[in-house]
Amino acid sequence: MSKIDLRGPFVLDARELGRRAGTQREYELTVPAPPELGIDVFAVPEGDEVDVDVRLEAVVDGVLATGSVFADLKGECVRCLDPIEDEVEATFQELYLYEAPELSGDDDEAEDLSVVVEEHIDLETAIRNAIVLEIPFQPLCSDDCPGLCQECGASLKEDPAHTHEAAIDPRWASLQGLQDDEK
Ligand SMILES: [Zn+2]
Ligand SMILES: [Zn+2]
Repeated sequence: MSKIDLRGPFVLDARELGRRAGTQREYELTVPAPPELGIDVFAVPEGDEVDVDVRLEAVVDGVLATGSVFADLKGECVRCLDPIEDEVEATFQELYLYEAPELSGDDDEAEDLSVVVEEHIDLETAIRNAIVLEIPFQPLCSDDCPGLCQECGASLKEDPAHTHEAAIDPRWASLQGLQDDEK
């Protein structure tokens, strides 16, 4: 079972809930973003503010966390590589069990379960997953970004009329000459 780092930015102390089912607490956190919060080409810059509103509710077998997360994203358009910015707002819900159930056989399933560790819960995985789900798989500066010229890499957005004279094979050139003669 994974241990959690109690100093992590998204760790909450669940002791106040006292394991009394039905008890609720609400939290508003503003914390610096950990590294790689997002996807390779579009992520919350490390150290930028991440706002989290979360309600913890003690249930019979654990703590249910329901919340939303809000942050700014920076990255680059996958077509033209221009810098892009956006905001991301994502919601999450995760149950943290007091006791991980005994699972027989391989423990793949156990690793996916979230647990209360030393009366603390770590929202980080739930928040990461929620943010990634909201980020477009292929972020673009605009839906119709023309991207880069395949020949020379110039930005077609800045130079939409950009073309290259098609290099004509000399043998075809002579054929073309014949065709012109026939006309
Ligand atoms: Zn673009
Ligand atoms: Zn070009």
